[in-house]
Amino acid sequence: MPNDVDQIKSRLDVVDVIGEYVSLKQSGQNWKGLCPFHGEKTPSFMVHREKQIWHCFGCGLGGDIFEFIEKFENVDFPEALEILARKAGVELSREVQPGASNKRTRLFQLLSEAVNFYQEQLKSDPGSSARQYLASRGVTAESISSFALGYAPAEWDKLVTRVLVWRN
Ligand SMILES: [Zn+2]
Repeated sequence: MPNDVDQIKSRLDVVDVIGEYVSLKQSGQNWKGLCPFHGEKTPSFMVHREKQIWHCFGCGLGGDIFEFIEKFENVDFPEALEILARKAGVELSREVQPGASNKRTRLFQLLSEAVNFYQEQLKSDPGSSARQYLASRGVTAESISSFALGYAPAEWDKLVTRVLVWRN
């Protein structure tokens, strides 16, 4: 069951979204421009298309498209979700009340992001031994997906760097 956030992310590109607000120039793998969050004359605001994140080396802010919209439009997560859903042409699957500052919604999003992350890990290279183990125990692909089984890689900071963008 793909969640709204994933669906929106798969349809929008960080460079296009931010490019609507900030004039960006390509520079190697990055796109850069003047940071909209602090005054500067030399661009230190970077947008990374491959990772779909942005970061400002001047003021230290960064995140994904949701964090950008939250900060730029000065809205909370549910509103940013609505704005981006509209841009992406995604119909939100659950009731999100704009303005009802919603820690709960954010927490659920965070957890679902974490679940997705561990599931992806199980499907990718680092999870191959775990996959073999599950297969040897007769756990089917169907059970793996219905019980949302995942694999936690050895690196302690993997999830943190992945969900960095969700920090408050
Ligand atoms: Zn900045």
